[in-house]
Amino acid sequence: MDELVFGPVPSRRLGRSIGVNNIPHKVCSYSCAYCQVGKGGRIQVERQEFYKPDTLIREVEQKLKLIKPSDYPDYITIVPDGEPTLDINLGTLIAKLKNLGVPVAVITNSSMLYRDDVKKDLALADYVSLKVDTVNPSVWKRINKPHKQLSLDKTLCAIVEFAQAYSGEYVTETMLVKDMNTLESELTAVAQFLQQVRPNIAYLSIPTRPPAYKGTFPPSEEMLLKAHELFSWHCLNVEYLTAYEGNTFAATGRFEDDLLGITAVHPMRLDAVRELMAKTSAAESTLNGLMATNRVKQITYEGQVFVVRSFDK
Ligand code: SF4
Repeated sequence: MDELVFGPVPSRRLGRSIGVNNIPHKVCSYSCAYCQVGKGGRIQVERQEFYKPDTLIREVEQKLKLIKPSDYPDYITIVPDGEPTLDINLGTLIAKLKNLGVPVAVITNSSMLYRDDVKKDLALADYVSLKVDTVNPSVWKRINKPHKQLSLDKTLCAIVEFAQAYSGEYVTETMLVKDMNTLESELTAVAQFLQQVRPNIAYLSIPTRPPAYKGTFPPSEEMLLKAHELFSWHCLNVEYLTAYEGNTFAATGRFEDDLLGITAVHPMRLDAVRELMAKTSAAESTLNGLMATNRVKQITYEGQVFVVRSFDK
């Protein structure tokens, strides 16, 4: 039996979060090349009941009772090992979870948003994360391996409609996979689409754990930097959502921690890194040490030198 409720776990996006698994393992409308839940499972687009909402609510209530006040969660996040909107009871679940006094977040692959009942259910959440890996149908088939009844056009239209009507906080997440969706023309098209949708934050992520399919690799640091710059040029509030969770925003006054924290979210221009060194009285040798141990890299892009996090450990 899957663990239905887990955590609290630290999440950079959502602070401390309790996770709710409202879908059995890998029941999804996609079978993404980079899926970290593994291969197989069931690909479906029919909504159905998997667990009674009251069963899930009871488990969350029990979990909350055991949590010390200092560890109380900032969010209850519906983030199963599958697609949460396949749950026909999602709206009821969100409404009942909200009665517990903790904001509710849902992380979805967006593919079911074309349905009015799914839009209505998600509208109840306080925070929604929408997946937008590509706006190109052939890339979509390769990277997200959707159920054959799904249509990318419908999904993209539904995202625009949802974004216009939704009153909560919504973000987008774009997973970058080497040689799949990292061409400049691809990234520009995604950025142009997101410009229309205006998410609070457009996250860029990369596969970090072993993916479902062989031949699925993260892009280079150069490519990640390029994607960040391209999205920024389109006036998006863009952040990396990489494996480096935790200690990312608090300025500690220690150069090494602050540099690693900031570059987990954004590339940093070398002149800004030097300012940080001056502020924290750090020596050049500390930066050199981080580069020598491959924790950060220097990359020149469009005539500017940037310091970025290094992923090839
Ligand atoms: S949407 Fe999420 S759970 Fe579904 S296949 Fe893609 S990565 Fe895996």
